[in-house]
Amino acid sequence: MAAVRGKDTKPEMLIRRYLHGQGFRYRLHDKSLPGSPDLVLPKYKTVVFVHGCFWHQHGKSCGVKSGPPSINLAFWEPKLQRNTERDQAAQNALKAQGWQVLLVWECELNRTRRGATLHRLSGAIIDAVGLDAMEFNLAA
Ligand SMILES: [Zn+2]
Repeated sequence: MAAVRGKDTKPEMLIRRYLHGQGFRYRLHDKSLPGSPDLVLPKYKTVVFVHGCFWHQHGKSCGVKSGPPSINLAFWEPKLQRNTERDQAAQNALKAQGWQVLLVWECELNRTRRGATLHRLSGAIIDAVGLDAMEFNLAA
């Protein structure tokens, strides 16, 4: 699990490289914020989580068939359930603090969807300025 939730997963690197190229500046894995968001953009009062579809249980709208590493659901299900609860709690706490919370799912960064996803992400970050904190789920 550490390998997947780790700090430099490939989808996250894609996003970091893109946003940096667009001139955004961010902090990484800020432990002072709920859930240690993957990217924190203070200027835009925005945090970005990059979620692996399996570990964070993307669910029905997921474009990836991502199964567990071993088919032992009795073992994985409670862990995944806790991940989901932890995600939700962190997002709620961040929103309560006035942060815009953006989620990017692994499957939204596949070869065919990547360009559109990154474009929407940068647009959503910019749009955050002057708006009340709201959830902007890119998968919606
Ligand atoms: Zn997905």
